[in-house]
Amino acid sequence: MSVVDDIRDKLDIVEVISGYVPLRKAGRNFKARCPFHTEKTPSFTVSPERQTWRCFGACATGGDIFNFVMRKDNVEFGEALRRLAETAGVEVSSRPKEQVDLEESLFRVNQEAARFYNEMLMSPEGRAALKYLNDRGIDAKAIEEFQLGYSPKGRDRLRTHLATLDANLGHATQAGLLRSDDEGNVRDFFFGRLMVPILDRRGRVAGFGGRSLDGSNPKYINTAATPIFDKQATLYALDKAASAIREQETAVIVEGYMDVIAAHQNDRRNVVASMGTALTERQVYLVRSLTKTVVLALDADAAGQEATLRSLEASWRAMERRRFGQRQEVALRIAVLPEGSDPDDIIRESVDRWDEIVKSAVPYMDFVIPAMARRHDLSTPQGKGRAAEALMPIIVSMGNAFEQDRYFGQLADTLGVTRDQLQASIGKLRLAARERRPAGPQPGAPPSSTTVSPLASGDRDPLEEFVLKALLHWPELLDVVEDHTPEEFRRTENRELFTQLLAAGTIDELQHRLDESLAEHFTRLTESDIKPTTRQSAPRAIQDALGRLKQRHLRDRQAEILESLDIEPGAELPKDIEDSIASVNDELKEGFLVGAREKPRR
Ligand SMILES: [Zn+2]
Repeated sequence: MSVVDDIRDKLDIVEVISGYVPLRKAGRNFKARCPFHTEKTPSFTVSPERQTWRCFGACATGGDIFNFVMRKDNVEFGEALRRLAETAGVEVSSRPKEQVDLEESLFRVNQEAARFYNEMLMSPEGRAALKYLNDRGIDAKAIEEFQLGYSPKGRDRLRTHLATLDANLGHATQAGLLRSDDEGNVRDFFFGRLMVPILDRRGRVAGFGGRSLDGSNPKYINTAATPIFDKQATLYALDKAASAIREQETAVIVEGYMDVIAAHQNDRRNVVASMGTALTERQVYLVRSLTKTVVLALDADAAGQEATLRSLEASWRAMERRRFGQRQEVALRIAVLPEGSDPDDIIRESVDRWDEIVKSAVPYMDFVIPAMARRHDLSTPQGKGRAAEALMPIIVSMGNAFEQDRYFGQLADTLGVTRDQLQASIGKLRLAARERRPAGPQPGAPPSSTTVSPLASGDRDPLEEFVLKALLHWPELLDVVEDHTPEEFRRTENRELFTQLLAAGTIDELQHRLDESLAEHFTRLTESDIKPTTRQSAPRAIQDALGRLKQRHLRDRQAEILESLDIEPGAELPKDIEDSIASVNDELKEGFLVGAREKPRR
């Protein structure tokens, strides 16, 4: 039995949810006011029979204990699993012991280095570094909180220190603290620099940033990638900012470490830094579980903006495209700083001014449309074409029809074309998307219905697993899932894997971000046989299986609605339930129509 099943067996959903919201018995079910949105009449239902919950109100969503804890505690699947495992007294299998031991050792040696650097900062040798911090208005409390330090000159000070402690120098090298030179001498990697320890989400020292103090280049060097440090997937100070981000429902991302420290020192604790890289998808992924609103504070300087814009274009477009697979949409807003000032200047001069700037951040598209217009020569048809080409995919992929329409109009105005002309170009994009989708039966394709039972058997759900196996086998077919949502998967581990796969886009990336709790499931699926499905028959087979998952999901929802109806017999049908019934019926009808249309003609 998998850990997920073990936990599901040991915990009762009514008990788990009662720990968060008071539930009232109502017929076969339990009801409450929805914990995820504000409402007067309870539309949140928990079914002890199905061990599921559903909000019939504004959220219009549901799931099991895992989804509930993920949403309520704002955590990823792995963390929800660990929390519930603890409650259930179930042990979660983890990574191989050697790997855990190695990582622990690397964290330990980093921690010792941070302590050593901090001691050096307070010694006579650290005077220049300390003066630099004082000049930038960073006080003693912040130095302590952020564990700032100084790596002394000479290239063997840390190594000597670690050697006297009998520390594992091989691990210090693996952690990026030491490095062998051409002659094979092991030397300190950082020397003569102000040291900024970079902590992971759990507050452990994962790496360092080192700032030069004598104007030498590069101004900053960071720890290279190590088993415990990957700057693409790190946001500086997220460990300290997480609770403020959650409370204030906004994360502010700046560029520099010193900006973050200045902000926190002035009680603006929802600020993190992007590690000198342009914002990566993985970094956005990190804050996504904490908040829906991300404000990116950009330098006024044009070159910097240009670089940021280019990187955002790429990563944000990818996110927009995949966001139907995500639990939450992320609203990215841009705050442009006044010319010639760094965030930390502004914060030190006036916190109110800083608050104003953050508050005045504009939605990403409101920033990007004019910025893109400046970049292309809109007096020529070619320039207009390129600007439209860059922006239309983002607009077309927007989930919100109202926003889509607004930006569509804004883009048409900016380009100086009519809506009709722009509409024509959308038509082409949509058409292109459709042409990529497989059409009609492939010769020699085995009908998936004979190979996959639609019924979940025992611990597994072959239909769901078939979809995942096929997608893991041929990730290039991810486009096929366009109209499907993770909620159509009944089993949480499958739902989660599907969500992560959509967000990741590639197997490499998936493996990178996959929580250890899902690794085993992932391995089993990737290793199991997919015959007789072939690459050629796969698109059709995946679509078929997904179609059936969708039908099943809709029927589940119908049943849930009917169950919730017998709560108060004879009572008038609440409006939201009535709406739910209507919408499920519509979807089912549509599903059958689509199914009928797509039937292979022989
Ligand atoms: Zn709700």
